[in-house]
Amino acid sequence: MKPFFKTILYLLLFILLTVLTQIGGLVFLLSWFIYRRIVKKATEHFKPAFLIKTLTFVSLYLFATFLIVPIIAKPFGRVPLLFFTIKHVQPVTIWTCILNRNYVRPELKSMVEKVAKTMHDRYEGAEIQYLDANLPFFDGFPLVPHLSHNDGRKLDLAFFYTDSRTGQKTNNKPSFSGYGVFEAPRPNELNSIETCLKKGYWQYDFNKYMAFGADQEQFIFDEERTRAMIELFSEAPGIEKMFLEPHLITRLKLNGNNKVRFHGCQAVRHDDHLHIQIRR
Ligand SMILES: [Zn+2]
Repeated sequence: MKPFFKTILYLLLFILLTVLTQIGGLVFLLSWFIYRRIVKKATEHFKPAFLIKTLTFVSLYLFATFLIVPIIAKPFGRVPLLFFTIKHVQPVTIWTCILNRNYVRPELKSMVEKVAKTMHDRYEGAEIQYLDANLPFFDGFPLVPHLSHNDGRKLDLAFFYTDSRTGQKTNNKPSFSGYGVFEAPRPNELNSIETCLKKGYWQYDFNKYMAFGADQEQFIFDEERTRAMIELFSEAPGIEKMFLEPHLITRLKLNGNNKVRFHGCQAVRHDDHLHIQIRR
């Protein structure tokens, strides 16, 4: 490849990795340097070089993500929600942790822990599953595409479902990412999605592109457990507000709960997940 195009490609990769994971761009630079200085000589006889370069990056990235970043994030007031450290709390997809999109303030982490324990005691086997949280460093650095997830105070959570084939309550979710499968308004319910789209907020149902392999048929929205989880969070000291689509606020009989609110048309629709945030 010509050096000019190679530089452009590397620059784009650097930007993409930084936007997605915050540390990816830096690790990419470091792995390029380590490859040129050390790995290249040691692996001269191994082909193809592309594979060796990729392996250098991936090993370095995973090492940084799971062993270095949690330590450096601490002074920034953020801790990771990991997939093996908190009982009854899991990410919907392990990619949330691999991409460093699982960082929150310590007080938010302990709040999630407490609610998860109560949920588990009340509903056998119930597990709170989280989606995007925040990146590990710097207030104001947004977690694209959620521009407000930039200070460790925000966390998206998946709803609960029942398996339509077995009739059993399940912890599985209808989409790979946890986003994009909507519990849409029924004909007799308030339809803020239609209203916002009509007003010209084209981004309002953007999360439909984030489903990545969805199986809505197999899942029935579990109103009881979802409502219980929302109520437990709203009782937690320190919670500031939660965002949910108006038709679900009504359907779950949460109209009297002043912590659960409509977020406005400038956000994306919240009938595929719940957004929670704690006070400053
Ligand atoms: Zn959110």
